[in-house]
Amino acid sequence: MSTLRFHAIKESLANKPILVEEKERRSDLFGKNVFNENTMRQYLTKDAFVGVMNAVQFGKKIDRNIADQVSSSMKDWALSKGVTHYTHWFQPLTGTTAEKHDAFFETIGNGMAIEKFGGSQLVQQEPDASSFPSGGIRNTFEARGYTAWDPTSPAFIYGTTLCIPTIFVAYTGEALDYKTPLLRALNAVDNAATDVCKYFDKNVKKVTSSLGWEQEYFLIDKMLAASRPDITLTGRTLLGHSSAKGQQLDDHYFGSIPNRALNFMRELETECMFLGIPVKTRHNEVAPNQFELAPIFEEANLAVDHNSLLMDIMGRVASRHNFKVLFHEKPFAGINGSGKHNNWSLSTDTGVNLLAPGKTPMSNLQFLAFFINTIKAVHENEELLRASIASASNDHRLGANEAPPAIMSVFIGQQLTKVLEELEGVTKGKLSPEEKTELKLNVVGKIPDVLLDNTDRNRTSPFAFTGNKFEFRAVGSLANCGNPMTVLNTIVAKQLIEFKKEVDLLIEKKGLKKDEAVFNVLREYIKSTKAILFEGNGYGKEWEDEAKKRGLSNNKSTPEALKAKISKKSIALFEEMNVMTKIESQARYEIEMEAYIMHIQIEGRVLGDIARNHIVPTAVKYQNILIENVKGLKEIFEDSFKTVSQEQINLIKIISSHIEGINTNVTKMTDERRKANTIENIEEKALAYCYQVKPLFDDIRKHCDKLELLVDDEIWPLTKYRELLFTR
Ligand code: ADP
Ligand code: MG
Repeated sequence: MSTLRFHAIKESLANKPILVEEKERRSDLFGKNVFNENTMRQYLTKDAFVGVMNAVQFGKKIDRNIADQVSSSMKDWALSKGVTHYTHWFQPLTGTTAEKHDAFFETIGNGMAIEKFGGSQLVQQEPDASSFPSGGIRNTFEARGYTAWDPTSPAFIYGTTLCIPTIFVAYTGEALDYKTPLLRALNAVDNAATDVCKYFDKNVKKVTSSLGWEQEYFLIDKMLAASRPDITLTGRTLLGHSSAKGQQLDDHYFGSIPNRALNFMRELETECMFLGIPVKTRHNEVAPNQFELAPIFEEANLAVDHNSLLMDIMGRVASRHNFKVLFHEKPFAGINGSGKHNNWSLSTDTGVNLLAPGKTPMSNLQFLAFFINTIKAVHENEELLRASIASASNDHRLGANEAPPAIMSVFIGQQLTKVLEELEGVTKGKLSPEEKTELKLNVVGKIPDVLLDNTDRNRTSPFAFTGNKFEFRAVGSLANCGNPMTVLNTIVAKQLIEFKKEVDLLIEKKGLKKDEAVFNVLREYIKSTKAILFEGNGYGKEWEDEAKKRGLSNNKSTPEALKAKISKKSIALFEEMNVMTKIESQARYEIEMEAYIMHIQIEGRVLGDIARNHIVPTAVKYQNILIENVKGLKEIFEDSFKTVSQEQINLIKIISSHIEGINTNVTKMTDERRKANTIENIEEKALAYCYQVKPLFDDIRKHCDKLELLVDDEIWPLTKYRELLFTR
């Protein structure tokens, strides 16, 4: 093994930056490989174009005749770009993307062949669903699933394949992917928000949910990564002593991007341009070899697709630059982990961002309505929101003193806190003309200039308002954003429906004017949601105690957090909003619990293997060298040998104690794993993995990492942190 380590280091040192030339302007490349509006105008008949646009904008069904026209044009376009295959591209609940390529090529008898792509092939396929997670939905006798075209996310060409974004559902109709519930949630929030907008502007016909994700990741030399079985199999290091230099000097963040990494980024960004992924920002992150990439925000469904696609492409481009991308939330102990902030807002088809303060008192009242309803939605559903970002890998981050804690809270900044305080004092029922004027001029009317100096950003908050959007910061870097975005949009949809009901009631039953009714309902919301607002340090122990007093949940581990997904309340919510049936909610819960168990199980096996089969033999080898040395000293020094070999003898003993520590703990862990595996109940099993198996990882690691400091570097088999983290 140690030979592999040194071989990898040698190879990695020989890796030079791979030059990337950018000859064309990015704006010229943008969307070149996308069957977007522009391309459709060129390739589609007017009927077909209108049909697709109606589907995109208003969710209208595309009839068969139009689908035939679209598929035929898509094929022509793709063939003109050298494409040979097509695939339905979808996001099953495995966390990666799935594709199965079929050639356009078809034989027509008489030894002849043509390129063919019909409407039916565009609209629907029936892949075997039996190897994708279904959480018990799929019957053994009905393994088929459907993928169905999602016209709201345009087809694109990757390599020589035409990729058609699709949903993936079971034969019986239940969703088996991230996209299906997301589309339903986006539809729910569109309807609910459009209804509320009508209080303020009758012209609004559609509200779109936007997402701008910020993808953090590590770039590790490919050879070095391959030399570590833990990185290869689990995406993170399960052991390894911290490097003498880590991120203490803060010299990586926003520093000049190392050349090899920069070339990787340029090629990646160029590919993104072709695919219409509007990437814009790149920079070094806090930890060594950690970086961030962010696009310009887009409609949420498209943004989710683009993030999944990007993660796939990043791996491929990285490989060409001799890198491995690590998306794991905590690939290295002792330095920062990675997240994926989800910047979220709602905007109207009239061009108004509903989460940005406006220019008039009326538009500000609209802003406040959406702002406060979002806070209320988070307050009412904080546990479900926490569940939406739960995973074995994100557990390392949440509450680990660097990322947002596992307690959900909302940060809004001092100025908006003041605005809410003033609104809280609004009179119950009808307002006097003076009060109305005062409110409009001095409270609601003052918001825009107030917000300009709202620059204090609290980095410890999991859900923060940042001027014109909310930023959900607890999302993990490895996550599919579809999950948190489904939950966020669903809870806001539900809240907006409740809000509308209450306002209407005050108008109809109490005879209040529209704005009076809105003020009245918002006042009550402000009073009832105070517990979720928090401006202080989210990492402190004080907040944990305070949050407990406030009745907020603090579900630190995935098995505990996921339970919220199948509470009566959550199941009813998803059913009412037509986002997921009870069966779908339960299936997802099971799939995610299973995934949790599998991840810990795999990590346990890998760690046991490395500790016993790599670390212990190395320690013994070094111990033998010491023993030989002591024997030699005894020969030479005879009587006084004890003094001269004291240190060596000491070391021999210490090594023995660590070997013992490793062996007993690996045995304990294996026993606990066996025990856990016999548990039938999935919740109990996951909890056993969480609280009986996983804690032993730390004990095993402690002994291994100590040995790393003692054993001769020449024979240490695992590539060390300093080697992994400081490649240039
Ligand atoms: P940060 O300081 O947190 O890095 P940025 O201003 O760089 O924040 O924005 C981060 C992300 O937020 C980007 O993807 C950006 O496009 C997105 N974003 C900006 N405005 C909005 C909005 N109104 N809705 C959704 N996302 C937005
Ligand atoms: Mg941000």
